[in-house]
Amino acid sequence: MSLRSRLAVLFAALAAAAGYLLILVSDATIRRAVEDRARNRIERELELLSDELAAGPPRGAVERDPVLRRAARGLDCRITYVGPDGAVQNDTDLLPADVLQMENHAARPEIREATARGFGESRRESATEGKEFLYVARRLPDGSVLRVAVSTARVSEVETSYLWTTRIAIGAVCIAFFIVGAAMSRRFSAPIAELTQAASAVAAGDFARDLPEAGGEEVQLLSAALRRMKASLADALARAEEERRLTSIVFERIPDALVVVDTKLAVVESNDRFARMIGVAAPAGRALYDLLRNRSLLDAFDHTVRTGEPSERTVRLADEIVWQVAVQPLPAGARASAVGVLRDVTRLERTEAMRRTFVADVSHELRTPIASIAAAAETLSEGGADEAEAANLVALIGRQSARMRELIDDLMDLAQIESGAVELEPADVPLVPLLEEVASDLEAVAASRGVRVVVQGDRAVAVHGDRRRLSQIARNLMDNAVKFSPEGSAVSVRVERNGSGPSFSVSDEGPGIPRAERDKIFQRFYQIDRSRSKERPGTGLGLAIVKHLAHLHGASIEVEGEVGSGSVFRVQFPAAM
Ligand code: ADP
Repeated sequence: MSLRSRLAVLFAALAAAAGYLLILVSDATIRRAVEDRARNRIERELELLSDELAAGPPRGAVERDPVLRRAARGLDCRITYVGPDGAVQNDTDLLPADVLQMENHAARPEIREATARGFGESRRESATEGKEFLYVARRLPDGSVLRVAVSTARVSEVETSYLWTTRIAIGAVCIAFFIVGAAMSRRFSAPIAELTQAASAVAAGDFARDLPEAGGEEVQLLSAALRRMKASLADALARAEEERRLTSIVFERIPDALVVVDTKLAVVESNDRFARMIGVAAPAGRALYDLLRNRSLLDAFDHTVRTGEPSERTVRLADEIVWQVAVQPLPAGARASAVGVLRDVTRLERTEAMRRTFVADVSHELRTPIASIAAAAETLSEGGADEAEAANLVALIGRQSARMRELIDDLMDLAQIESGAVELEPADVPLVPLLEEVASDLEAVAASRGVRVVVQGDRAVAVHGDRRRLSQIARNLMDNAVKFSPEGSAVSVRVERNGSGPSFSVSDEGPGIPRAERDKIFQRFYQIDRSRSKERPGTGLGLAIVKHLAHLHGASIEVEGEVGSGSVFRVQFPAAM
């Protein structure tokens, strides 16, 4: 029930109670006043009547009768004259003949009292008429008693008219009291209701809502207290929001995937990186079992949540993807139970694997020439070899040393290029003269194999690049072409300019490169057929160097040709060069 209605009910109850009490008191007072007035009047009349009867010569019952009847008519009452012995001598309500039949009145309370004390009074039912009467009696000097009887019904009639007037007045006052009270309660409760409404709106998050200042002093104090509460609440909320924002920024800026889970392994919070890593747009609220299909990953979370101990795993997924996960427990009682950090270490793992392969490859490449040199040196030191044999062994040592130097040079070169330490010294380099120069350097080797190198093309075609590095690209390609060319065949070097820009190609009539190997031959140490390469020794680093140097010039390199009918390596420079 609202405060206003309660106050209204209270006022109504108060008004009713006050009205009832007032009516009781006023009823009693009015009754007493009316009766007192009636009695006084009767007493006065009795006095006058007894004075009248006492004046003049003494009268008998018959002489008295007309006097009494006149008085009775005037007073609208009944007058009885009782002799000193209690016998009724006159009665204005009866015929004189009937009066003698009446019983002796000496025992009537008012008569007895009047006889004893001069004056008597009683209120009782009349034995003659069966109605209630007010009797007032007065003793006369000769001991007889004069009595007046007035019907109480007549007195009540007068009373009732007074009573209703006052009752209506009291009722009106009470109703006015109630109306004023209800209005006041409304005035008192309206600001509280308004304040309550505003406070409810604020509680529901509407911080723009003002808390009204109207009402009495207490309400204003309450309003001020609520305003202070609102201010500190807004402050606390702003701080919490700021902290939440900071946390979420930190969450997003962390370079790893983060996921916070509860005791049931449902995601409480996670960052974007986690969503991207698992490929689910909105992981919040979902069970980790639905999101991570890997048993070992789930075990890591499960273990931490169950035991409260941190766990760490490296997990290999399909497609050679490797994830590292570290799960830390969160303090008990928090909404969340553990936080997991996931990191994709696939590239790191791949680099590590490449490093291992590289070390193994280099060791392998060095082992063969070192073993040959060691064997030759041992034979020579034993002194068992004849002159021709010794010369052969020395030549072998020379060749193997040169091969090792070549390998080391290539490795250094590659390392330098790969680390980005190579600075190009660009100039406009015409391609045909450059390629002719490389061809003439290779002429002796080519001739020893019966291979011709032919350079053709527009002499004006030039590229903007580093001359030394460009000739290194050409030398590696032409060296391979000569190496893999059958005796008596030709290596054709062609310079062109097409829509894409300047290019040169090196074609041979060698074994060609199978389609599946076309990407691999550019990897370090990759050789299509090591046994075949035995007759044509190489480091397996040449094409890797070529590819890097071409890219440094913004150029692309591709292989064409058919297995069995030779290969074509084409270096395509960008048009702007
Ligand atoms: P290598 O020093 O062994 O020649 P490269 O990196 O230059 O190393 O070449 C890698 C591999 O590519 C070679 O071992 C060879 O198997 C293949 N290759 C390169 N050029 C040719 C070519 N013109 N014809 C056939 N195979 C070639």
